[in-house]
Amino acid sequence: AHLDRIAEIDGGVHAFLHIAGDAALKRASEVDQLRADGHDVGPLGGVPIAIKDVLCTYDMPSTAASRILEGWIPPYDATVVARLRSANLIPLGKTNMDEFAMGSSTEYSAYGPTRNPWDLDRIPGGSGGGSAAAVASFEAPFALGSDTGGSIRQPAAVTGTVGVKPTYGGVSRYGAIALASSLDQVGPVSRTVLDAALLHDIIGGHDPRDSTSLDQLWPSFADAARAGAENLALSGVRIGVVKELGGAGFQAGVTQRFTETLRLLEQAGAEIVEVSAPHFEYAIAAYYLILPAEASSNLARFDSVRFGLRVTPEGGGTVEQVMAATREAGFGPEVKRRIILGTYALSAGYYDAYYGSAQKVRTLIQRDFDAAFEQVDLLLSPSAPTTAFKFGEKTADPLSMYLNDITTIPANLAGVPGMGLPIGLAPEDGLPVGLQIMAPAREDARLYRFGATLE
Ligand code: GLN
Repeated sequence: AHLDRIAEIDGGVHAFLHIAGDAALKRASEVDQLRADGHDVGPLGGVPIAIKDVLCTYDMPSTAASRILEGWIPPYDATVVARLRSANLIPLGKTNMDEFAMGSSTEYSAYGPTRNPWDLDRIPGGSGGGSAAAVASFEAPFALGSDTGGSIRQPAAVTGTVGVKPTYGGVSRYGAIALASSLDQVGPVSRTVLDAALLHDIIGGHDPRDSTSLDQLWPSFADAARAGAENLALSGVRIGVVKELGGAGFQAGVTQRFTETLRLLEQAGAEIVEVSAPHFEYAIAAYYLILPAEASSNLARFDSVRFGLRVTPEGGGTVEQVMAATREAGFGPEVKRRIILGTYALSAGYYDAYYGSAQKVRTLIQRDFDAAFEQVDLLLSPSAPTTAFKFGEKTADPLSMYLNDITTIPANLAGVPGMGLPIGLAPEDGLPVGLQIMAPAREDARLYRFGATLE
């Protein structure tokens, strides 16, 4: 049914870069057979899932929506993909994204943008717009995304879906094509909080192949979500509203839905307080130094020798000339912009002024979170300052695209978990609005419990 749905609408939505087709059907009948033979196929056995193209899959191309990896089939699965397969989920295909996960709209995909199923003239968010659009349009009930600065939560907000960025280290990054290694996390995209929890239970947990993976046991997030759905009272729950993540610059309908949600929470017994995170003001500036710095280092592996594309200048050329020609042809404009920014920020003489300062700001932001979580159990903000914007609105001015990330970036800088979930439509345009919930590091279960109550 999902493959039929994709055949019917994906020409317009373009959520997928690759569709598994017969391989998915074959795997589905194998899982059916397992079940018929009396095996326990698990809670999501036989359920299809779309996979962001930043994740390595041994049987499907993995391009990160870049020309430089066009047609590249990795020799192995990302840990999260291997875990999906062992839990008997059925990979449906690979979803579109901004090239190397750099962007907030999927307009930077080398293979053309994904369209928002709510309004095909609008962006589905980014970088994981394909995963969110696939779930929102019922092409897939589940998807995987990656979130370095909001690429799961912001697409969830503008498509009316649920998306979770786990605690840094909570989900393996092994086989996730690296953007900024100190910020990247893989996470679930779904239509309900319980669904996200079920998926997180499958993909999460320690992985010795990721050196930053947390070596600890995690509670069942599905149990947390079920507990939240069963007990709707919120008495004793202290909720902080981050002053710096609202107000001026936020669309009126977004603020309206957010304020209404706070009122509902109060009625359910929650205590709402305003908290200030004074250094969030510098989050975008710090992020757009740290991210390009790490990305420029990570993307050095695309050297025309080890992976994918190789372009030889006419009449041959030196190794350096082949590398330069390959990168010139293989990387899109946003990727080039960030590589240049990153190498500049890391260069001798500038390192302390840019990268060093940004790291200090990062510490101050972490301390803002620590101070806030001494007062409250959870922090709330809108997931994004606006509803889905129109194509082309922000591509001419990279800074305006970067500013859209204000709400989501702090959680990545601090490594804390964040969930985005829908809270209705903005009255002025009828488009989905998202609520962001943040919890202290390792307290992902709190997000699921609270999110399921709210849902
Ligand atoms: N919009 C952010 C950026 O462009 C999000 C990136 C991400 O989370 N992958 O960097």
